[in-house]
Amino acid sequence: MSTEVLPGSDVRQDSDVRPDWSVDDGDHERFAHYVEKDKIVDSAVNGTPVVALCGKVWVPSRDPKKFPICPDCQRIYESLPAAPD
Ligand SMILES: [Zn+2]
Repeated sequence: MSTEVLPGSDVRQDSDVRPDWSVDDGDHERFAHYVEKDKIVDSAVNGTPVVALCGKVWVPSRDPKKFPICPDCQRIYESLPAAPD
């Protein structure tokens, strides 16, 4: 299992968690949150909300703008056992 951080909207087959970039209004939306790949794919297909590692639930939007990674998500992500880098 591998993970990676991608600032774009590409969905990689080999990544399990990656940040997604949301531009909705609100404080948490100013961050990029880590979301499980499967949930992102499901959201892209069905428009269902995703759940970030920090617990935030929202429907991600696709936008090339870069946002700082949510500190809560990053803390959780870095504590995960599978981080090959
Ligand atoms: Zn977060």
